[in-house]
Amino acid sequence: MSASPPPSARDPWAGGPVTERAHCVLAPNPGPMTLDGTNTWVLLEPGAAEAVVIDPGPLDEQHLRAVLAHVEERGARVGLTVLTHGHHDHAEGAPRFAELTGAPTRAVGTGHDDLGDGDRVTTGGLDLRVVATPGHTSDSISFALPADHALLTGDTVLGRGTTVVAHPDGELGAYLHSLERIATLTGGGDVTRILPGHGPVVPDASAMVAFYRTHRAERLEQVRQALADGAVQEADPVEGVLTRVYAEVPQEVWPAARMSIRAQLDHLGVAWG
Ligand SMILES: [Zn+2]
Repeated sequence: MSASPPPSARDPWAGGPVTERAHCVLAPNPGPMTLDGTNTWVLLEPGAAEAVVIDPGPLDEQHLRAVLAHVEERGARVGLTVLTHGHHDHAEGAPRFAELTGAPTRAVGTGHDDLGDGDRVTTGGLDLRVVATPGHTSDSISFALPADHALLTGDTVLGRGTTVVAHPDGELGAYLHSLERIATLTGGGDVTRILPGHGPVVPDASAMVAFYRTHRAERLEQVRQALADGAVQEADPVEGVLTRVYAEVPQEVWPAARMSIRAQLDHLGVAWG
């Protein structure tokens, strides 16, 4: 038996207002890896003049202008842009968005190495806390918004399905630790909702994180079993595991599955390739 995810409150997902402070403008880049598209989150303290934008998304002029228009409609301007990680579907539009807004961009990694675990962002009277959640990528961070009991997770936890550990930059041990950390936040009641980088808002954060952890443990067990069943002796253990464990996933996401398998083999200390 395999774990099944908790139901989503809003499926299909088209963005829109989610909490008192958070509104999602959905980017027009749907696909097998991006689900409905990238969620660009606009955070605005009620009555404030400056908003924080999380993940401007791909370089799509219309989308970037739609985000800007939304902020202006709410009587504010963009005070700061932050990135959950450097993948193109989240970050590619950031330089152009900075041109349009004049606002700085903060993130972890090349050119942005200025946000770290425990940092606070207080633009426009918001209180945002950085939670380092590496694993999907080494530069992945989440943002806690305590006033709305929300955690903005980027690609670390999605609104639907499960995420990919993007080997070699992503690392499974780090990812499992990040899930543990998020489980601590949801378990203590500080976070009740997850606002993901793709897919619908997650109304029961605790249930979703429990599902993610169970799914990871089950997959790892399946990979161990596949290796024991002979995959480890094959010329390419990655393909051996793929055909045994991931046969049911659509072929279009096999490249992602291969990344996840390599991450799991590394985690298990199994040589491949
Ligand atoms: Zn990503």
